[in-house]
Amino acid sequence: MEPLVRASLTLRTLLRRAHGSLLACGLAAFVVYGGAAGAPRVAQGIAVAVWAFLLASRVARKVRASEDAPLLVDVEIGALLSVALEAILVRYDGGLSGPYSPALYVLVALVAAFARPAAGIVVVTFLLGLEAALRLVTLDDADMNGFATHACFVGAFGLLNLALLRAEVARIRATARARVEAQLVRLKEDARSYRLLGAGEANDRDEVRSDRLARASVEEIHQSVHYALDLLRRSLDLHTAVLLWLNDAGTHLRISELSSASDEIHDAPFALGDGVLGAVLMQRAPASLRGLKPSYKVPYYAGPCPVRALAAIPVLEGETLRGVLALDRVEDRPFSPHEEEIAAQAARFCLRAIQNERVFLQLERAKVEQGKLYRAAQALGAALSEKDVVEAGVRAAREIASFDLAAVTVYEDAARSHEVVAARSAAGEIDDLVGVRFSHNAGLVSMVVQNRCPLPYRGEYEAGRQIVLSKRLPWPTHPSLLVLPLLMHERALGTLILGAKRRHAFGDAVRPTLEVLASHLAVSLSNARMVAKLETMATTDGLTGLLNKRAMLDAAKQKIAASARFGRELSVLVVDIDFFKKVNDTHGHDVGDLVIRGLGELLKRQKRATDVVARFGGEEFVVLCEQTDEKGAMLLAERIREELGKTSFRTTSATLGVTCSIGVSTFPQAGADWDTLFKAADEALYVSKRSGRDRCTAWRPQRKAASGVRR
Ligand code: GH3
Ligand code: MG
Ligand code: MG
Repeated sequence: MEPLVRASLTLRTLLRRAHGSLLACGLAAFVVYGGAAGAPRVAQGIAVAVWAFLLASRVARKVRASEDAPLLVDVEIGALLSVALEAILVRYDGGLSGPYSPALYVLVALVAAFARPAAGIVVVTFLLGLEAALRLVTLDDADMNGFATHACFVGAFGLLNLALLRAEVARIRATARARVEAQLVRLKEDARSYRLLGAGEANDRDEVRSDRLARASVEEIHQSVHYALDLLRRSLDLHTAVLLWLNDAGTHLRISELSSASDEIHDAPFALGDGVLGAVLMQRAPASLRGLKPSYKVPYYAGPCPVRALAAIPVLEGETLRGVLALDRVEDRPFSPHEEEIAAQAARFCLRAIQNERVFLQLERAKVEQGKLYRAAQALGAALSEKDVVEAGVRAAREIASFDLAAVTVYEDAARSHEVVAARSAAGEIDDLVGVRFSHNAGLVSMVVQNRCPLPYRGEYEAGRQIVLSKRLPWPTHPSLLVLPLLMHERALGTLILGAKRRHAFGDAVRPTLEVLASHLAVSLSNARMVAKLETMATTDGLTGLLNKRAMLDAAKQKIAASARFGRELSVLVVDIDFFKKVNDTHGHDVGDLVIRGLGELLKRQKRATDVVARFGGEEFVVLCEQTDEKGAMLLAERIREELGKTSFRTTSATLGVTCSIGVSTFPQAGADWDTLFKAADEALYVSKRSGRDRCTAWRPQRKAASGVRR
């Protein structure tokens, strides 16, 4: 049955995918077997309708999906067109060698131009196959020489078209791309010369966004400056008003924007020469020339000098020289002080337009950085455990800078040692460092904790010279590294280490934000540690490190509920040291504490992993044993009693031994809840005490029947 189902499924899939191709082949067969000849018939009408429907649906699909249309759609369109063309030639041209037969070449050219190469090859093969079949079957044309010549031409035509057309398309695309890229480079250069772009962005996403913003700002500057220059040119009757701007390095001048009546503008950077522009820049003072000859070289004109009078005004931003505003006119009339003053005002206007955009961009950037820090602070605030805090911190850092590895170390002041508490890397190079400790040394992490400022300088790592954690702990040699102190109240709790394969990954654009993030991380880390400490204090007994009474009650309730659900037994042991008051009275409280701690250790050693031990108060302990019946509990109780009896406690003045009495009760016989069970165990303990101490007693329904055991 299964092969049948599979076969029918395969057939259905095949039909769904290839019904267009199959129908095209069917139409071709119809034409080959005389479908195109003779008087119009119903069958021909149906064939034309099927053909038209198929072609329309395939073309619609191709138009909708444009480049992503499947290859099969191209093949089907080509095949349908081939069938139609050959049918028309057979019907109206009397064969395939008639006067209109070159129409086939047009079809091949079209296919070569619009279909993908693989589809083109299939269609040309189909076309030639159909032609051969038509010649042999329909036209009964045994002379295959004509076909061979035809096939050669069709093939050559297709190939030539394919090669030439594609080469041309590629060339046009490349030219357009180069032009766009040149435009982008120019915009970026402008942005840099206007000091709109920083020294590199945090990550690719930021860089794209920042580039886009800077480009918009450059456009904005050009519009404002053009407006000012145009106004200046019209009001002072100028030939050209041009703002020339110094490049980033301050070596060349370039036209930033201009308004000119001339077509001969030379828009290429030129070096600061000795001409009038050079003099203006050198002396930082305006200059005015008149009576210029056509041979005079004005660098922003391509040909001979078209103007007679020229004025140039330096554009200064504070003390820094930024460019020159040049004005000229054809008429030999010198520039008056009043005109020069108007030009100076226009220069100030241009400068302000640039400064405004710079401030706008800075605000935009600050807004983005603040958004990141705000989200980081929220994520860090929501994380309660140390692990969650570290994870949130690394995730937030990833928003600020891109890096390949991150680690967090924590410093322990008392032990003068560091511990790696988290380490994550893309290739797993440092992941096994988690939990590793190393002592304070001359490495970068130790130095950062000590000096409380980030290292290495500028975030560049010199693998040969610098140690990150310690000499014995190798660190990947990525060129970018940043170790940030986790500062809290001027104290470094540890460090956040970031490393990147990309050079200059931690430049000026990201370091300050990362430093702020690191202090957020420090505060959250310290809070998480505090919470963990409080939790421990709330559940642990300070003297023995065992659970305290409250934590034991919580655990007991859970374990009794689980035992009830799964129908299992559970036993409670209550252990109390005999005549403990005497120990305190004879040897003092400190020795008493020593004995209590000793019994705590003993219980820890004796318990199984699933047992719970708590100090219930004073010198009384409780052990809760899951899946343990009375017999098993009594065995454990006996072991504890014997062990304690054998233990000697050494003090500075004496060696002493103590004994203990134990009461045991078992769920469900002795009680169904904690209170009853504990009461039962306590009663059994009381029996042990009354029967002479240093013994274990299991609870019995009638106290009279309680059995004391002593060995
Ligand atoms: P019994 O055999 O009947 O148990 O006699 P006992 O002297 O041990 O009597 P009980 O259990 O009532 O004595 C508890 C004593 O334990 C009272 C108190 O002085 C002492 N004790 C309670 N807590 C501590 C502690 O934290 N440290 C020390 N050193 N002694 C404690
Ligand atoms: Mg006691
Ligand atoms: Mg007691």
